[in-house]
Amino acid sequence: MSDVFQQALAQALPLLKEVQKGIKSPPKASQTALKRLRKAATARPAASVQPLPPPPATEWTWELLEKAIRGCVKCPNLVASRTQVVFGVGNRSAELMFIGEAPGAEEDEQGEPFVGKSGQLITKIIEAMGFTRDDIFIANVMKCRPDMPGEESGNRKPKGEEMATCLPWLREQVRLVKPRAIVALGATAAEGLLGETRLIRDIRGTWLEFEGIPVMVTYHPAYLLRNQTITEKRKVWEDMLLVLKKLGREITPKQERFFTVAAQ
Ligand code: SF4
Repeated sequence: MSDVFQQALAQALPLLKEVQKGIKSPPKASQTALKRLRKAATARPAASVQPLPPPPATEWTWELLEKAIRGCVKCPNLVASRTQVVFGVGNRSAELMFIGEAPGAEEDEQGEPFVGKSGQLITKIIEAMGFTRDDIFIANVMKCRPDMPGEESGNRKPKGEEMATCLPWLREQVRLVKPRAIVALGATAAEGLLGETRLIRDIRGTWLEFEGIPVMVTYHPAYLLRNQTITEKRKVWEDMLLVLKKLGREITPKQERFFTVAAQ
């Protein structure tokens, strides 16, 4: 109760009691006290209430983050349709992260990003770079499979707003992994990560940035599976050579020649 309200109440109460008993007709003084009482009672409390302090910044640990992501219900339609959340796999202190757009049907089923034919191709690329799949942290911008209402199979491209809703989770994963470089696979993953729609051919081979970390955008393995020409394979490989250089890795002459006419 505010001080103003208490003072007004203390003044008005004895007078009110006497008026009620019929001992006194309402004196002028009580009118003022009553006015003050009414005013104090109806006054907005905002003046006496301190604004809430901002919530404390969460110090994410892997344990807390995994629990939060696996329990995330921000997108009710995706929660209803997903088999499970696809958190991400691999080395949680990796110097390199590979990031795709969203789980497809197989990923949703197995709970792991990049499985199936695209996953096998990514594994081959990673191994050609001199890593194992376990050396890298692999994740998607979106952790739940985009739903397919009325469809029994197939995958759809995630919408920009869906990726934007999920992006904070990836941001926290990147902050925990602290990679020295990120490879974004495909235009949709690049859009989700960087927030702008650009053609791969315009941005591949150049360094962009996410959270201060260098990002190399390259073609999605599904594109390479559809376009198995040496020219397209070489483009992706040249992007990977740039990544290896960024990481300070020694590149062998054999690696330099991959997917060139000379190597055939
Ligand atoms: S897509 Fe991302 S934000 Fe949406 S429910 Fe799944 S984990 Fe949560």
